[in-house]
Amino acid sequence: MKVIKFGGSSLASAAQLEKVLNIVNSDDDRRFVVVSAPGKRDAKDTKVTDALVKYYKAYIAEKDVTENQNWIIQRYRDIIDELKLGQNILEKITKAIIDLANLPIDNNRFLYDTFLAAGEDNNAKLIAEFFKKNNLNARYINPKEAGIIVTSEPGNARLLPSSYDKLEELRDSDEILIIPGFFGVTADDQICTFSRGGSDITGSIVAAGVKADLYENFTDVDGIFAAHPGIVHKPDSISELTYREMRELAYAGFSVLHDEALIPAYRGKIPLVIKNTNNPSHPGTKIILEHTSHSAPVVGIAGDNDFVSINISKYLMNREVGFGRKVLQILEELNIRWEHIPTGIDDMSIVLRGRELTPIKEQEIISQLTRKLEVDEVEIERDLSIIMIVGENMKSHIGVTSKAAEAFSKKHINLEMISQGSSEVSVMFVIKTEQEKDAIRALYQTFFKAKD
Ligand code: ASP
Repeated sequence: MKVIKFGGSSLASAAQLEKVLNIVNSDDDRRFVVVSAPGKRDAKDTKVTDALVKYYKAYIAEKDVTENQNWIIQRYRDIIDELKLGQNILEKITKAIIDLANLPIDNNRFLYDTFLAAGEDNNAKLIAEFFKKNNLNARYINPKEAGIIVTSEPGNARLLPSSYDKLEELRDSDEILIIPGFFGVTADDQICTFSRGGSDITGSIVAAGVKADLYENFTDVDGIFAAHPGIVHKPDSISELTYREMRELAYAGFSVLHDEALIPAYRGKIPLVIKNTNNPSHPGTKIILEHTSHSAPVVGIAGDNDFVSINISKYLMNREVGFGRKVLQILEELNIRWEHIPTGIDDMSIVLRGRELTPIKEQEIISQLTRKLEVDEVEIERDLSIIMIVGENMKSHIGVTSKAAEAFSKKHINLEMISQGSSEVSVMFVIKTEQEKDAIRALYQTFFKAKD
């Protein structure tokens, strides 16, 4: 039994929905279909979810929302007309979109989420209608009935573990269930969404809940590439990745799948495959618990920018009990998340995402480190990128880091920091952002082109 999830670009038009129908029709095991809201039809288009954000903003600003409503309704109408689905479903969707502007604004923590969730919810209804018209035994099921019960954290919901029992009951259904992605309901019946892009999370939850044999995530690329195709010309596509490798790559910029989406499927030991709606015969990239065959030491190279490093030096830092804790406490009190802490003997660097460090927080950190911790030097270094080479098999290979360092040195790329976690799934290099692309190309050349 398979759970299949389609992203927004796979559902953006009638032509795309025909492809989706063929994919579902071609395999009887595809019993649970999780859908996003209609996405962009071309680069200039607007995603329905983004149009709902604008609609929400106009509504709470008490502006005229007719234009916002009409645009969204027209998106669905175009699809409905082209698929000849009839007036009934159009009326239902029209009403649902208009009714959003009757919801209370004051003391309504879930209003934004309720607006956003309408993109997925109405699309699921439309798709169920389309499937039925094409003689599939399909039914729309809302997250409440399905049992997707979540915490009351607007825009950042998490599944309540008790949901899995109810979800498992869906296994017995003989219908193809069409489930809107991206949101669940709270214990007191409020609509609450996951973070943006969260339909992937719903798919993973449903796959774990119904104990599927496979979670198929359909998007608009032939799976995952070993490096960013915008940086490396025609990179290899990866046929198989482990969950751990995927997590590392996703962390450093591989954004094919929402990173929270890995957890439910991983814990449920459900293999996942990323496939292309526009090229369904391509095998895609499989994400599994352990490699089935012997894989190369490096399976992918990722890079991400906008990192900042707080570089702290203090003579005899290593002798001072509690120094690290005090530094981290300053960050904690300012509600700053950190990413990595490479250290020297008398110095320590804290690497953060750039957005964490506002100018006010930066001043505060410098002043506290100087006053309270009496550091000798503190310097804030911006415009840094993280480059990661990833592969579970690095553990059993000697010389991977040395090859990478040699590739950097040939290109005159200065390494600011290097770090490897004890799991040895990845090695991370911090460099200046202006050299990020050259660094990725150099590593790709070393690990994927110049094979021994
Ligand atoms: N429609 C939502 C978004 O744009 C969720 C998703 O597509 O996964 O964020």
